[in-house]
Amino acid sequence: MSDCLFCKIAAGEIPSKKVYEDDQVLAFCDIDPQAPTHFLVIPKTHIGSCGEISSENSAVVAHAFEVIAKVARDLGVTDFRVVSNCGPQAGQSVPHLHFHVLAGRDMTWPPG
Ligand code: 5GP
Repeated sequence: MSDCLFCKIAAGEIPSKKVYEDDQVLAFCDIDPQAPTHFLVIPKTHIGSCGEISSENSAVVAHAFEVIAKVARDLGVTDFRVVSNCGPQAGQSVPHLHFHVLAGRDMTWPPG
């Protein structure tokens, strides 16, 4: 989508601090980190949110979780939280599917 921020980051049109990239997904540091380690994993193809995952596009979601585990291992992170906000009421501010990966501090539950 031409007006999507994360599509532009995936295309390299907007710079990001990449931690991993392949042909399907990009992982990059969040611009406003909420933990000592906070990166985002996005599919390069546009999926609006978790609410748009289907049998047609779920392979890239499975791959994103493989990448989450790999990047966490590569960073030496063993304890981490994966979050995906779906919709504005749940806190989604960028309408392109992304998984937050947060680590490096104690986490509380339930989330706010
Ligand atoms: P959401 O609020 O949709 O769950 O998460 C969006 C995340 O994207 C936020 O944590 C926000 O800090 C991050 N973000 C927004 N704009 C940019 C940007 O231009 N670059 C990077 N690296 N992160 C961004």
